[in-house]
Amino acid sequence: MTQKIKKILVANRGEIALRIMRSAKSAGINTVAVYSEADEQAPFARFADERVCIGPPPSSESYLQIDKIIEVCKDLNVDAIHPGYGFLSENAAFAGALEEAGINFIGPSAAAIQTMGDKISAKQAVGSFGVPLVPGMDKPIEDVAEARKIATDIGYPVLVKASAGGGGKGMRIVHNDEDFEGEMERAMSEALNAFGNGAVFVEKFISAPKHIEVQIIGDKHGNLVHLFERDCSVQRRHQKVVEEAPSPILNHEERMKIGEAALNVARACDYYNAGTVEFIMDSDKEFYFLEMNTRLQVEHPVTEQITGVDLVQEQIRVAEGLPLSFKQEDLEVNGHSIEIRVYAEDPKNNFAPSIGNLEVYRRPEGEGVRLDDGYEQGQEIPIYYDPMIAKLVATGKNRNEAIARLLQAIRDYRIIGVKTTLPFCEFVLQHEDFLSGNFTTKFVEQYFTPEVLETDPDPAQIEAVLSVIAFMDQSNQQKLTPTVPVSSSNWKTRLRN
Ligand code: ADP
Repeated sequence: MTQKIKKILVANRGEIALRIMRSAKSAGINTVAVYSEADEQAPFARFADERVCIGPPPSSESYLQIDKIIEVCKDLNVDAIHPGYGFLSENAAFAGALEEAGINFIGPSAAAIQTMGDKISAKQAVGSFGVPLVPGMDKPIEDVAEARKIATDIGYPVLVKASAGGGGKGMRIVHNDEDFEGEMERAMSEALNAFGNGAVFVEKFISAPKHIEVQIIGDKHGNLVHLFERDCSVQRRHQKVVEEAPSPILNHEERMKIGEAALNVARACDYYNAGTVEFIMDSDKEFYFLEMNTRLQVEHPVTEQITGVDLVQEQIRVAEGLPLSFKQEDLEVNGHSIEIRVYAEDPKNNFAPSIGNLEVYRRPEGEGVRLDDGYEQGQEIPIYYDPMIAKLVATGKNRNEAIARLLQAIRDYRIIGVKTTLPFCEFVLQHEDFLSGNFTTKFVEQYFTPEVLETDPDPAQIEAVLSVIAFMDQSNQQKLTPTVPVSSSNWKTRLRN
């Protein structure tokens, strides 16, 4: 049965709320913003057709208030909610409450969220679908001696991980048997604090892997496709900062193999709507399932850029009960797209949040450049939420062109008033390991120190980077192959802010 959606409430804030509303509006759907007192002047709240303040700044008193949000839906005749990412997006109780209230949740079933929301139950669910798992336990630690034995059998280093984990929290690397119990206790208390659930398990710590994830989407008629992979290996504190599609190291066959594994994960929980299946891949290109995120992902734009699919519009179609508008064989990788997350953080001070006023805020423009942002000049970055200002995305017909365009956009982006991750991202994009495509999740640890943002490059490095930039001018006439010689460390051009 199909049900046309006429009015969507976006239960989120910032860039993602705005991005969702834009797609809804262009599909002729009315939009409702719910916002906290801290977001009174935020562009997303002003963009919506209707808006309701739902409480004070702390998320627990506003963006996480399920009852208040449902009340607004009833008052304003809202037929569907898009949860974005974070906040209530992976809250099975929220999806369940909407099901009961007869409001369409633009996402998967509450049952799928429940299964995949817990890393242990997710591992158990996919086990019989032939999905490769990181060697380790598929149940919570109950007996420390038994867990230590498993850790010894797997071989150190191991990772003690919170089952309810997210955002890299509740995860500890253990290097030897003596440290096991102490680290396990730390992981448990971190998990209990952050998620209200202290269950932890053990898995092999894969040294220097790549983080590769696959975008999938399914409808309620059993159609399920993948939209290829994203490489999100550049991370700080296990959180992504640079993402790209496709991965620079996979060929077509490998791409379709990991895509098929992702579809099996989705099949394991009868998944519909958009989701992301995350894997880690070792240096032999063996990949292992990490977890599934049952929502739209921060980095979804790079997939949209290379496939031409508007994932939000497709999500809405699925929620309406329509079949997917494309089949697997209709999809192909077209070009290369890279996203950087622009956080109000100080990369020179261990990426500590840098809250303040955006005194100057000038957006970059240019061919292939997409900016998903949630702020305007003169606005404060509130301390209450994730400090992401924007996602800057550049797409080109190949990886070099995408890098060149992104570097230019970074240089054109002017942000004064807060420190940002822009200089850090500029460093990454020019690093030889990044340029080679072989970088791993160790990238930041291996190459980044605050000093690299202060050291002037030597003339050879300047020349090498200029050759990347020059690529932009040549790219209309000729296709270059992806290797650009740039030497590695201590490299920085200018420091903004
Ligand atoms: P979260 O839900 O907290 O994001 P994930 O399981 O998705 O946790 O892992 C986040 C990141 O932590 C991964 O992208 C990877 O960099 C690292 N990681 C997770 N599991 C392992 C592992 N077994 N070995 C090595 N690194 C890992």
